Amino acid sequence: MRLSQMLFVTLREDPAEAEIPSHKLLLRAGYIRRVGSGIYAYLPLMWRVLQKVSQIVREEMNAAGAQECLLPQMQPAELWRESGRWETYTQAEGIMFALQDRQGRELGLGPTHEEVITEIAKDMIRSYRQLPLNLYQIQTKFRDEIRPRFGLMRGREFIMKDAYSFSADEADLKIIYAKMHDAYCKILQRCGLAYRAVDADSGAIGGSGSQEFMVLAEAGEDQVLYTEDGHYAANVEKAVSLPPDPEPSTFKTLEKRKTPDSNTIAKLCEVLQCSPTQVVKTVLYAAVYDNGTTVLVLISIRGDQDVNEVKLQNELVKLGDRVQGKTLISLAVPDGSAQTKWASRPLPLGYIAPDLGDDYIQKVKGICSQFLRLVDQTAVDLKNFVTGANEVGYHHVGVNWQKDLALPEQIVDVRTAQVGDRAVHDPNQRLQTARGIEIGHIFQLGTKYSQALGATYTNEAGQEQPLMMGCYGVGVSRLAQAAVEQSYDKDGIIWPVAIAPYHAIVIIPNGKDPAQVAAAETLYHDLKAAGIETLLDDRDERAGVKFKDADLIGIPYRLVTGKSLKEGKVEVVVRATHESEQIPIEAVVSTLQGYIRQ
Ligand code: ATP
Ligand code: MG
Repeated sequence: MRLSQMLFVTLREDPAEAEIPSHKLLLRAGYIRRVGSGIYAYLPLMWRVLQKVSQIVREEMNAAGAQECLLPQMQPAELWRESGRWETYTQAEGIMFALQDRQGRELGLGPTHEEVITEIAKDMIRSYRQLPLNLYQIQTKFRDEIRPRFGLMRGREFIMKDAYSFSADEADLKIIYAKMHDAYCKILQRCGLAYRAVDADSGAIGGSGSQEFMVLAEAGEDQVLYTEDGHYAANVEKAVSLPPDPEPSTFKTLEKRKTPDSNTIAKLCEVLQCSPTQVVKTVLYAAVYDNGTTVLVLISIRGDQDVNEVKLQNELVKLGDRVQGKTLISLAVPDGSAQTKWASRPLPLGYIAPDLGDDYIQKVKGICSQFLRLVDQTAVDLKNFVTGANEVGYHHVGVNWQKDLALPEQIVDVRTAQVGDRAVHDPNQRLQTARGIEIGHIFQLGTKYSQALGATYTNEAGQEQPLMMGCYGVGVSRLAQAAVEQSYDKDGIIWPVAIAPYHAIVIIPNGKDPAQVAAAETLYHDLKAAGIETLLDDRDERAGVKFKDADLIGIPYRLVTGKSLKEGKVEVVVRATHESEQIPIEAVVSTLQGYIRQ
C-alpha cells in the first residue's frame, strides 16, 4: 500500500480525550477515531490488526475442534425472559441496549449469546451421538457500559470471539474447557503477549470453574495475586490466602471504654494501644434486589482486613432465598443521604457493633425491617476482642462471642486477600501482585441456560438430560489495544510482528531523487511479491516526518533507500530496538523473510 493513497493522518500532540498510552498512541497514529462515547471507527491500519488477531483466534479455535458460525446480533426479548436475564440486563444492570420494532416487539442488541445458542441447541441437538459440540463466532458485541473508557479497552461496541460448548456430562465439559485453556495460551503466545491465566470469580452464575487470561500491564483494570512458584494466580476478586495471625489480646475483662474521635481503626488502635487484629469492625451495606426491596447488611470482620465486595455479593446471592428469593442488583455502602431514607435515628458510625439494634431501621415500605448479620471467619476466631459499643465515643474491650455478644448466624469468607499474605497451597509462599487487562474468560457454565430454556438431549440409557455447557470469550479489539499497552516507547507503537498491520515500510527520504524512487519502487514490488506486507512512504514529505511517522505507527521493519544506495545497499532499521544495518539490495527480501519467520 502506498501511503500517498491511504487515509493516513497522524497527530503530533496527545489527544486530550485519552488517558493511557495505548489509547493515545492508537489515536495519534491514526488507527482509530472516536465517533461517540465508547464508539470507535477502526481505520484501515487498525482493521488489518484486528483481522490478524481474528485469524490467529480462528486458527486456534479450529485446531481445538470448534466450528465457526455467525449468530444474530438482534435478539428477541422472549429468549432473555426465558433465561430470566431480560430485566437484569436491560434495567437492573442495564448493560443491554434494548429497542422496539415497529410492531412493538422488544429486541436487545447482543452483549453475549448464551440465550441464542442454547435455543439453537434445544432445536437441533437430540442425542448424545451429536455431542460434544463447540461453536464460536467473531462478531461485534454491544454493551451499554456505565464507564466506557480507554478507547477499545472498554467500548460500548467491540469485537469479541465467543464460543459455547455442549457436552453430555461434566467430565466431557472439562475436556473441552482444558482444550480452550490451551488454545487461549497459544493465541496469546502467537500474538507475542506476556500473560497469566488466573482463577476468576464465577459470579452469580455459579458453575464449577472459570479462569481469566490477563495481559500484564500497569494500566490494567484488574489486580492479579500470584505466587513466585507459579502454582497460584487469581484475580483479587476471587483470590484466597491465609490471613496473618492475630496478636494475642491485651484485654482480659469486658469493659466499656471511652474512645473519643475513634471512628477509624487506625485512630481507635492508637487510643486503645492495641493491634487492629484485636478489633472486630462492623461494616454496613445496602443490598438492593430486583423487586425493589433493600436489605441492610452488617458484616463483621477483623480490623486489619477488608471486605471483598465480589465475595460478599456472591454470599448474598447464595442467601438470596432466605433474603428475598430475588435477584441482587446492587450492593453499596449507604452514604448519609441514603441512610436518612430508612434510619430511625443517626447511626453510631465508626462505633457499630455486630448486635446493632434492628430498631435503627424505620418501618418503611421496601426496606427489610431487620439487619442481615454476617461474620467473616477472621472475626469468629478472636477472643477478648475490641468492638464498638453502638454509642458514639465508646467501645467495648475484652469481648467474647456468645458470652457477651451473639455470634451472627451466617459465617462467611469475604475477606480480601492481600499482597504479602501467605498462600493457602504453601504457607512459605507469599502473594505477589501485578496488574492485568482481562482479554479472555473461560467458564464452565453447567446447566443454568440449558435448564432455563429446556435444551436437553437423550443419553445412552434413553433418559432426557440437560446439556452441559461452557462458554469462552476473547476480547479481540481489547487484545489488539492491550498489545500496544504492553509494547511501545517514547516514539510510538512497537507491534509484535504477528499482528502488525504491515511487516515493513519502505521510505524514500528524498522523493526528488530518481535513483531513490526507482530503488524503493523495485523493493516495494519485490517484497510484496515475496509475501511480505509492505507500505511505501511515497508522500511528498520531509525525511524526518516520514521517519517519525514510521516509528509512531510501529511497523516492525523500516527500509530506507538513502545514502548507501551508491554502494548498492539500503538501511534496515528494527523498530523495537532502533538497530540499523546496511544490507545489499538483493539480500533485503531474504533477510526480512528470515526476521519475520523468527
Ligand atoms: P469486564 O470484567 O472487563 O467488564 P466481562 O467479564 O464483562 O469484562 P466477558 O463477558 O467475560 O467480559 O467478555 C469476554 C471478553 O470480552 C472479556 O474478557 C474482554 O476481553 C472482552 N470485553 C468485555 N467487555 C468489553 C468492552 N466493553 N470492551 C471491549 N472488550 C470487552
Ligand atoms: Mg469476564
